[in-house]
Amino acid sequence: MENRGVGENSASSAGLEQLWEKTLEQARHELGETCVAQWIYPVKLTEINGDSAVLAAATGFLADWVERNYGRQLLRILQKQRPKIKRVRFTIEPGLGGNPDMAAPNGRDRAAKHEGKNGGNPADEAILQSAPLDPRFTFDSFVVGKPNELAHAAARRVAESADASFNPVFLYGGVGLGKTHLMHAIGWHLKQTRPNCRVLYLSAEYFMYRFVQALRYRDTLTFKQQFRSVDVLMVDDVQFIAGKESTQEEFFHTFNALIDQKKQIVISGDRSPERIDGLEERICSRLQWGLVVDIHPTDYELRLGILQSKAEAIAAANPNFEMDPKVLEFLAHRISSNVRVLEGALTRLFAFASLIGRRITMDMTQECLADLLRTADRKVTIEEIKRKVADHYNLRMSDLTSARRARAVARPRQVAMFLAKSLTSKSLPEIGRGFGGRDHTTVIHAVNKISQLRETDSQLADDIEMLRRMLEG
Ligand code: ADP
Ligand code: MG
Repeated sequence: MENRGVGENSASSAGLEQLWEKTLEQARHELGETCVAQWIYPVKLTEINGDSAVLAAATGFLADWVERNYGRQLLRILQKQRPKIKRVRFTIEPGLGGNPDMAAPNGRDRAAKHEGKNGGNPADEAILQSAPLDPRFTFDSFVVGKPNELAHAAARRVAESADASFNPVFLYGGVGLGKTHLMHAIGWHLKQTRPNCRVLYLSAEYFMYRFVQALRYRDTLTFKQQFRSVDVLMVDDVQFIAGKESTQEEFFHTFNALIDQKKQIVISGDRSPERIDGLEERICSRLQWGLVVDIHPTDYELRLGILQSKAEAIAAANPNFEMDPKVLEFLAHRISSNVRVLEGALTRLFAFASLIGRRITMDMTQECLADLLRTADRKVTIEEIKRKVADHYNLRMSDLTSARRARAVARPRQVAMFLAKSLTSKSLPEIGRGFGGRDHTTVIHAVNKISQLRETDSQLADDIEMLRRMLEG
């Protein structure tokens, strides 16, 4: 690798490079391949000045972005290796090329990246490249269970049929439930089965980044043309462009043009289109023309299935790996619905076990994952539930304990009782007392009512899911 902008002697710049390589490696671990390739790889560690690590980026936008979103993590990772580093500073070096979409985590593509470093005008850059797909995210490695079976089927359908019969497909669900995994799986499948099909996968934040660049260089025409030749467009985490008006405008046009040409579009979001605040009405309704599917939070069976499949993969690669089968059940019970957290727990256990060279037991699990288990245990209180529910439905907290029986108050009150029953270990009478001294039969009624309604009323189901996430998060 060349030492662009490193004005030090070769010994120390080699040290810097090594430090940065290690940092990228660790960041890939913590933030994921895609994120690093898109945002962090285009940044360079140029100097350590006193207690500051100086990072250079090609544009102010990129510097700002990385600093705001990943600054703290980068500092922590750097600090681990060089404890004297106390802060990271960003500088702007237009010569760096700042073309994150050409950046790739593996050496093979670096040569390509350097070709684009002439002054950093994106208009000079060739066509828009897809963000790299994570090789681990395939259909084969995706465990299907009740909570995600619809989303999985929709993704399969997109990957296997060429006719865009559902268009667009909108996948939504909470953090770490497999949206990105499914999109990458579609990408991999298409690459294999239809090598000529042009697949463009990018995050909505990156879409915005490119759009802002295009605006800045007054080159929105090229920006638009870049999408023309795409057969399948996948945009991840669309909630990100909510409230960003001009980006939405552009997104909308791109989106319409592609749909008119019968090109497949897949979009993901962290909630259903109508619940994304600041998403324009027309985008929202256009999204709903297609197929909208949600990924529900994992249930125990799915968590266990995922853990088993990951543990098998680890065992296949590490013949000495041994684990008490109870451990997986324990983790599936105790760790939240976020699959990323689940995987993290298993990875940590595995690292720990291979360090000390022993079989993974229940005791070891308790010890090694104490902090994770503690947060999973975090006690949610009835007060918090009332506050969040009141906020969510624009009520006063006192409405929830009042005797008012108007639907607009009674339903949220039932939701709050339902959440109190499922998220706390309080008894029915205790919950009744928490809601203005109601009888325990009222609580039972509320819990049953909400359980039933949730099956048919998807809006309510969404509300509850969102509240649950906020309370547990
Ligand atoms: P999201 O994009 O919804 O936040 P991701 O797709 O990034 O979530 O998933 C988080 C992690 O969990 C990834 O490592 C992914 O491989 C894993 N994961 C999620 N769901 C499943 C599943 N059903 N089977 C196997 N792995 C999964
Ligand atoms: Mg994702």
